[in-house]
Amino acid sequence: MLKGIGASDGIGIGKALIFNDKPIAYDEGASEGPKAEKSRFEAAVHTFNEKNEARAERLNQIGGDGEILRGHIAMLADPYMLSQINELIDGGARAEKAVETVCGMFISVFSAADDELTRQRAADVEDIKNEMLKLLLGIEDIDLGSLPPDTILIVGELTPSMTVEMDREHVVGIVTERGGRTSHSAIISRSLKIPAVLSVENALELIPAGSELIVDGSAGEVYRDFDDSVRRRFTEIQKRYAKKAALEERYRGKPTVTRDGAVKKLYANIGSHKELEAVLEADAEGIGLFRTEFLFMDRDSMPGEEEQFEAYKTVAAGMKGREVIIRTLDVGGDKDIPYLKLKKEENPFMGFRAVRYCLANRGAYKIQLRAILRASAYGNVAVMVPLVTRVDEILEVRAIIGKLKDEFDKQNIPYKKDIRVGVMMETPAACLIADLLAEHADFFSIGTNDLTGYIMAADRGNADVSYLYSVFDPAVLRAVKHIIASAAKRGIPCGMCGEAAADPRMLPLLVSFGLDEFSVNPASVLSVRCALAALDGKACDAAAEKALAAGTEQEVLNILSSFRSEAL
Ligand code: PEP
Ligand code: MG
Repeated sequence: MLKGIGASDGIGIGKALIFNDKPIAYDEGASEGPKAEKSRFEAAVHTFNEKNEARAERLNQIGGDGEILRGHIAMLADPYMLSQINELIDGGARAEKAVETVCGMFISVFSAADDELTRQRAADVEDIKNEMLKLLLGIEDIDLGSLPPDTILIVGELTPSMTVEMDREHVVGIVTERGGRTSHSAIISRSLKIPAVLSVENALELIPAGSELIVDGSAGEVYRDFDDSVRRRFTEIQKRYAKKAALEERYRGKPTVTRDGAVKKLYANIGSHKELEAVLEADAEGIGLFRTEFLFMDRDSMPGEEEQFEAYKTVAAGMKGREVIIRTLDVGGDKDIPYLKLKKEENPFMGFRAVRYCLANRGAYKIQLRAILRASAYGNVAVMVPLVTRVDEILEVRAIIGKLKDEFDKQNIPYKKDIRVGVMMETPAACLIADLLAEHADFFSIGTNDLTGYIMAADRGNADVSYLYSVFDPAVLRAVKHIIASAAKRGIPCGMCGEAAADPRMLPLLVSFGLDEFSVNPASVLSVRCALAALDGKACDAAAEKALAAGTEQEVLNILSSFRSEAL
């Protein structure tokens, strides 16, 4: 059995499909002679063109941007590039070496260019190089868009672009080598309702392609070479999950209310306007976090005002009066957007990210805020600012919004006059000055994914320190309680959009602390409503009192697990 981090609940039983995203290695000296190398190269180009044309077609059909791939075909047909490659082959180079050298040359020239557009081309050439090397070396390039039934995908890291392409119908489990419970791999797999185990060391080497596997996404375990009794045990557990889902279905269309009548808001988190349908289907009462950075990812340049406006408007209008909290660009940390060419930082989580980047790049920030303001005319939109650490930041954002409102008034552009501006509470600094921030915020939303990492000084994606990264640590619990209390004192609502808002162990504490709004993955909406309905405020208070008096994370977990077995 292989151990990792359980990141998306459920049991998947199927066959391993290895998607190796590691760097490609080959023997540089082994040329078969210029003639043979040239025909290998031409055959690879032919396959490259065919594959990319087909992928472009498919991407366009599912709402992606297939033209990027057609651009790759055109770049590889560039006469200068081709002549350079042929020259190296004539000089005795192996086709792989010629492709790598010439592409490398283009990459360094493009990377050093002054204008952004040319610099972005470096990433395109990098893609072309990798794909051509795979084709030349006969490394199977798996088409994620058409997978066999009952596939368990084994991959280094799951990226948003893989999920766009992925044949979701046929993937029953995901195993990755990297990522923690709150990494984007985990968030994506939960939203797809696919059982996932992350941070399984050397999974790509240890799991043979085609082998039968069981993925236990709750326990974080991957079983190989199992016998029939193990298979029967997990098939039974699968049935229990199905039963639980059927029970939760009974809460569809019902209000979210605890057993003793406290009404809560139950919202959903999304990363794209394309998830609107999933949110409606999930029966969420609003959107508590629209992660706009995904709109900026997997492309070559920033989306303009019109494109952003259309995306925000789709969600604002589609939610039909229900609240939609749009978070402004949260770039940096674990979310890289290559074309922004952020400097390589020693410590990106402590670096130039989120609101820090936006306030230093006001032109781009204003475009986003304008798009949000325009979309606010079509629904109940609010703005949320990520990674706030100082009062000045929220004041500056408010000032920019204020100026934009004046411009809109002059130009008669409609927008929601009383649009609310909230602060994401995800840094220790914000927690310590929660009272000061509350004076300038219309609401708080606690981002426990980052807050936990920053309070515990433990990177959210680093498996070696994952034992420290726990929202149940007394330090994090105190922070959460303090933030909720500070909001209540000032009379503003407080939500939570970090993954902890959907953790059934955490819910009694959040009810006791008085959290107003729970914003969770669409896949968790009904289970959270069902769990909240079983909770009684007084019993939660008693559990919270004990948990807050506990000295260690383990004690907190013990208290919460005995509370759950007594109360539920
Ligand atoms: C968080 O940090 O809890 C959060 C919701 O933001 P993200 O996961 O996008 O960093
Ligand atoms: Mg965050």
